[in-house]
Amino acid sequence: MKNIKDYNIDELKEELKALGEKSFRAEQIFKWLYVDKVKSFDEMTNLSMDLREKLKQNYDICNFEIIKKLESVDGTKKYLFGLSDGNAIESVLMEYHFGKSVCVSSQIGCKMGCKFCASTGIPFIRNLSSGEIVEQILAIEQDTNSKISNVVFMGIGEPFDNYDNVINAIKILNNPKGLNIGARHISISTSGIVPKIYQFADENIQSTLSISLHSANNKTRSSMMPINNTYNIEELIQACKYYIEKTNKRISFEYALAKDNNDNLKDADELIKLLKGMLCHVNLIPINKIENGAYTKSSLENIIKFRDYLNNHGIVATIRRELGSDINAACGQLRRQNINSE
Ligand code: SAH
Repeated sequence: MKNIKDYNIDELKEELKALGEKSFRAEQIFKWLYVDKVKSFDEMTNLSMDLREKLKQNYDICNFEIIKKLESVDGTKKYLFGLSDGNAIESVLMEYHFGKSVCVSSQIGCKMGCKFCASTGIPFIRNLSSGEIVEQILAIEQDTNSKISNVVFMGIGEPFDNYDNVINAIKILNNPKGLNIGARHISISTSGIVPKIYQFADENIQSTLSISLHSANNKTRSSMMPINNTYNIEELIQACKYYIEKTNKRISFEYALAKDNNDNLKDADELIKLLKGMLCHVNLIPINKIENGAYTKSSLENIIKFRDYLNNHGIVATIRRELGSDINAACGQLRRQNINSE
């Protein structure tokens, strides 16, 4: 059956028209789903019994089950959600001074095969629907009885490999009468699917873009990220330049530092050369060790040295605060777990 949370407001209006209903009903339904957060059509009391029946016959309301919830010493929470088809995904809630941010998954599993990421250790199963992406935020708002202000697409999966559903999820999240999370407060991270970077630049959506770069050297980057064999660094940077020119928005480059792999000052030199003059920012992440992973974390001393070197050479760089690593909720540590693991 169709999931009613898969539709943005315009699509829902069309659905209702097709059922012979007035389009303002879509707005009422949106409010029930995303403001009142009801779990059944029967609770939508301003709809006629007849309409509720029609909705029940045609749609499901996707509600996730919380299979497991872990809380870090730093307050970060990791959720393992059970989906209606028996699959499970993880989402993470982080608290910052500016508000609460949810790191969402976009796929069940991932095809990218990045050597340092735990999401690689699981086979790709399927894309998440728009409603399943939105439901991660909704379920966390409900569980914590709080408002989420920011969303990052940095959980399991490659958002640009599920492009249409991700873009539609953003439209649903944006609705001012629904979850009301502004596009500027949403950030997408990609491993570098070049054609989708062009498409996203032309989309006219105000969300921010992060690129998982991790090395400015094709040989090193290919050894870490197989996607670099399809779209190399030059092609990637060209697409980034197009994005910046088109949107006038700054790109954030993510760079996970692994000891003796990409953390020397000669690596920093290559990075400086590559990014010089671009409207961008480098986000340095101490690489998180994963099970059977080949990489070890660069020392904090070295990371600071790397950051200062970039900053002294005109590249704005900061070190990402590590949250939730004690519960395997930090960058690259999310997996599609099952009920019995961990
Ligand atoms: N597929 C997307 C989004 C998910 S990963 C992407 O690749 O961008 C979110 C960020 O965490 C990416 O920058 C990713 O490269 C990084 N990451 C993955 N594994 C990591 C690890 N073990 N340590 C630190 N960062 C990691």
